[in-house]
Amino acid sequence: MTIATTDSTSTARPRPRHASMTQFAVADNCLQIGGRALSALADEMGRTPFYAYDSAVMSAQVQRLRELLPPELHLHYAMKANPMPAVVRHLAGITDGLDVASAGELEVALAAGADPRAISFAGPGKSTADLTAAVAAGVIINLESEHEMRRLAALVSGRGERPRVAVRVNPDFELKTSGMKMAGGAKPFGVDAERVPQMLGELASLPLDFVGFHIFCGSQNLRPEAIVEAQANTFELAVRLAGCAPQPVRWLNIGGGLGVPYFPGERELDLQPIAASLPPLLAAAREELPGAEIVMELGRYLVAAAGIYVCEVLERKQSRGETFLITNGGLHHHLAASGNFGQVLRKNYPVCLGNRMASPATEIVNVVGPLCTPLDILAEKVELPVAEPGDLLVVYQSGAYGYSASPRDFLSHPHPLEILL
Ligand SMILES: *Cc1c(COP(=O)(O)O)cnc(C)c1O
Repeated sequence: MTIATTDSTSTARPRPRHASMTQFAVADNCLQIGGRALSALADEMGRTPFYAYDSAVMSAQVQRLRELLPPELHLHYAMKANPMPAVVRHLAGITDGLDVASAGELEVALAAGADPRAISFAGPGKSTADLTAAVAAGVIINLESEHEMRRLAALVSGRGERPRVAVRVNPDFELKTSGMKMAGGAKPFGVDAERVPQMLGELASLPLDFVGFHIFCGSQNLRPEAIVEAQANTFELAVRLAGCAPQPVRWLNIGGGLGVPYFPGERELDLQPIAASLPPLLAAAREELPGAEIVMELGRYLVAAAGIYVCEVLERKQSRGETFLITNGGLHHHLAASGNFGQVLRKNYPVCLGNRMASPATEIVNVVGPLCTPLDILAEKVELPVAEPGDLLVVYQSGAYGYSASPRDFLSHPHPLEILL
């Protein structure tokens, strides 16, 4: 193994920078979101911090996928990325279905008007209450173990019901270089591919309506080649397993994994290779799995760039040569931006001063939150215009895994607000 070392004599290599955030316009020195100036929005909200999500940015992202990907491919929204009811309602209206991971998410999905026939329910630890709610709603239940299959069969036995089920498969391949691997090797998610044939044999005798497979490999991938390879492997595995199925495969969820740029050096995912490789895969699926509906499930890709987190500078503090901007927002509202939601080495999310967009970045600062913990960091050593108390510190790429993925009660500060524009 070789360990990369930094060559201290080389000064030529520029520091990696964040991809430019072009989803929101700038006017009069101020960031614009949902057609209004951020400073006016902050006044209307009445207090900071808040999350603001732009529905037009979400729609544009869905539109981009629709234009590039084959029309027969169904796009689902994986609600755990952002379960705000207004966001779910918006996405239910422009996607082909929703993927939920708890009875609570299912309730929001149904209240958003989503068609239960186009909802699927995944999750490695479904409670009896989860299964009961899923059966009552008539959604597809992604079975994550043989035991769960038997529990569900026992739950409905004698009631004349045959809930629709898919088997979530833990594939025998990995999604390479994924930000978050969720398949391949030993995993708590799904059933190991090699055990699926036997499980399907047992399923055939149970009061369950087998519809197909759910094969989700991982999350936050920015390498199109890796996604293309995983999708090819996914179709191949589904066809192999379909040979052991009690009924023809009518539904195949091929996962997603499309990533978004968060950190310096990361670039927007190039969709072209994915768009080019899917038509032949879908054509093969039409031959081998005739009539099967093919679903791609996306969470962050649909919502991350549409959201910002906005907090306010409270204090400027100097300490031994460094400048700290202390804000009223932080880890308790936005765990991911603080670096504590799965990052190994902490990296900065893209940030800006939303009310000083035209001012040059002339100082290097650390942006921290109000919590008494050194983990409460929003940005380390970033170049920003000179900030004053009252300025609006904006964290971009905050539409996914923000509000709902943060420990909002930690230190008992007020919770952030949320608005969909
Ligand atoms: C979390 C999750 C998703 C969404 O992942 P993103 O990276 O947000 O696209 C999709 N499917 C399943 C099964 C998940 O667990």
